[in-house]
Amino acid sequence: MALIVHKYGGTSVGSPERIKNVAKRVAKARAEGHDIVVVVSAMSGETNRLVALAHEMQEHPDPRELDVVLSTGEQVTIGLLAMALKDIGVDAKSYTGWQVALKTDTSHTKARIESIDDEKMRADLAEGKVVIVAGFQGISSEGNISTLGRGGSDTSAVALAAALKADECQIYTDVDGVYTTDPRVVPEARRMDTVTFEEMIELASLGSKVLQIRSVEFAGKYKVRLRVLSSLQDGGNGTLITFEEDDNMERAAVTGIAFDKNQARINVRGVPDKPGVAYQILGAVADANIEVDMIIQNVGAQGTTDFSFTVNQNDFKRTLKVLETEVVPGLGGGEVNGDPLIAKVSIVGLGMKSHAGIAARMFECLAKEGINIRMISTSEIKTSVVIEDKYLELAVRALHAAFGLEGEAVEEKVV
Ligand code: ADP
Ligand code: ASP
Ligand code: MG
Repeated sequence: MALIVHKYGGTSVGSPERIKNVAKRVAKARAEGHDIVVVVSAMSGETNRLVALAHEMQEHPDPRELDVVLSTGEQVTIGLLAMALKDIGVDAKSYTGWQVALKTDTSHTKARIESIDDEKMRADLAEGKVVIVAGFQGISSEGNISTLGRGGSDTSAVALAAALKADECQIYTDVDGVYTTDPRVVPEARRMDTVTFEEMIELASLGSKVLQIRSVEFAGKYKVRLRVLSSLQDGGNGTLITFEEDDNMERAAVTGIAFDKNQARINVRGVPDKPGVAYQILGAVADANIEVDMIIQNVGAQGTTDFSFTVNQNDFKRTLKVLETEVVPGLGGGEVNGDPLIAKVSIVGLGMKSHAGIAARMFECLAKEGINIRMISTSEIKTSVVIEDKYLELAVRALHAAFGLEGEAVEEKVV
């Protein structure tokens, strides 16, 4: 008998039928003798609907109140799933984030989990109940409802698995595992039986939304056994995130391709080239709580310098405003402009540590397709490029083929 955390995402609980289907899966695992804690997301589309509603009230919704609204989606699904389980004779009890005392810091809409009280859950499990916990939410150290950032139910599930020392955390979603790239973009993408934790961290942070990055970080920190599986198909072992590299395996240079369409580029040109300029520009951006991704500084004309950096598309207008109003007037020259229509494509693989020339092969492939590279950044196991967003799908497909990542065709996804 094992203690297993199941997590079901939005599509998997997207209709009453799907919720009943989840109940059947949970009942089956229970019948096999396992203790089960289930984390659920809001029904698909619900969180987006709530975000839109909030924006109808305020251009920049008050963060505390936004979390009050956003957390309601998950509250509906926990109750519905508990009913569906009871209806088929399985005893279950639902909890919101605050009820299980999933405590977070105070950064609304992107709160970090600080602690979890497992007492109630353990008592219910001991009584043979299935415990159902609302994903994506917690209670802040100030006693307010908080949410964990989009896709945050994955993180709730892994954090609960860590707190309960569960034998496995199973993330059930609308694909049957982690693929070499998003199978929606490249139908030839191949499911991987295993992917290393290090590679998964990179893939998630570079845009593969199959797992929220923080969930992978948590799994690494607390050594949670983490698996991605399909909630829509029966059978299959999905993809296990492993901590060990398989030494027997002939390692391909590139394991997967990630992409991110939600980036925008900011340029600050013709700035006097003197010490402290990068700090003046990027310090102000950081003070406005805007995360910067890639940064490039080039020599400009006549003793000036040019900066380019990328931010999340949602922060694009705000970044321009901060620079125009707070920074440029104090720089003694320079002009700001931006480009919201860019995308980032990244190749990831532990094999890049030992294979030389992988980045060059990436650039060659993009050159053959006539795709211009606007920015580049590399680290030990990844290379990322920024390109015009209209070339994104072409770039991903071409790179997927160039690095030999296709496998047998995967079955059409049931969505
Ligand atoms: P959930 O609602 O279950 O949390 P998400 O939509 O957040 O599901 O994540 C699953 C989706 O992630 C898939 O439908 C797929 O399109 C996308 N995805 C992106 N990259 C990958 C990848 N490398 N492998 C599998 N799925 C991926
Ligand atoms: N419902 C939240 C979202 O849509 C959390 C999640 O699904 O993981 O982002
Ligand atoms: Mg998700």
